[in-house]
Amino acid sequence: MGTYAMTGGATGIGAAIQQQLVDEGHRVIVVDIKDADVVADLSTRQGREYAVEELRSRAADGLDGYIPCAGLGPSVTPASLITQVNYFAAVETIEGVKDLLIKKGGSVVVISSNSAPMGADPDSVEACLQHDEVKACAIVDQLGEPQNAYGGSKLALTRWMRRNSTAYAASGVRLNAVAPGIVRTPLTDKVMADKALGQVMKDFADTVPVGSLGEPEQIADAVMFMLSDKASFMCGSVIFVDGGHDAMLRPDDF
Ligand code: NAD
Repeated sequence: MGTYAMTGGATGIGAAIQQQLVDEGHRVIVVDIKDADVVADLSTRQGREYAVEELRSRAADGLDGYIPCAGLGPSVTPASLITQVNYFAAVETIEGVKDLLIKKGGSVVVISSNSAPMGADPDSVEACLQHDEVKACAIVDQLGEPQNAYGGSKLALTRWMRRNSTAYAASGVRLNAVAPGIVRTPLTDKVMADKALGQVMKDFADTVPVGSLGEPEQIADAVMFMLSDKASFMCGSVIFVDGGHDAMLRPDDF
């Protein structure tokens, strides 16, 4: 059985992924700000460095897979926290365990969002891709729109994944993304309870084509497939698991 590492395994989608990996008999090392094997605040550079250091010593023989799932929703302030956790923590920890993944021909699944193509400030996205954390954070804090920072963080992360998938594949490591829609998790509960965003989100939730919100296990099912050998020809792909929302909003874009 394999060795997997992930972030954000304490609750929601991450907890479902962790459970499915354990159910298949794998060893899973979880990094999170709470209730984890490695407790680290991934919004900070020190937290990310500590997390990578711990993963490197706990999985020195290599990793079969890595899932940077920790994330903050579009109701969090300051907006820069979203950028730090959703983009910079994901990218820096993937790079930090890259050689462990190469050792075992592992694969990575990043957690995007169906909100990634819905519009975000292009300068903040570009600053992320240039790995300029100070600039990216300054832009999103000046805008003061957490929803924009959220979409931007996921757009940048997905572009990073696609831009790097060729080079990683040359080292035997597949990068892919899942783009969930609205899923019943603590993150979504917070957004629904938010004064500014709650009603908009509830109205949007009423339009999911399949008629209901997603469950964390439904996202984990897709992640498990992408991690597995059954997906060995899948590389640089983005799978939308969103009850049809992306197809409804962008029918001709694919
Ligand atoms: P969640 O709040 O249940 O889980 C997020 C996890 O990240 C938690 O375990 C939390 O403790 C951890 N985390 C947050 N900040 C951290 C930090 N600074 N350091 C370390 N860990 C931290 O939310 P979820 O909905 O399960 O979200 C999981 C992923 O799925 C996120 O990347 C999110 O953006 C993405 N996503 C969620 C939805 C949705 O509708 N729920 C939709 C699209 C994408």
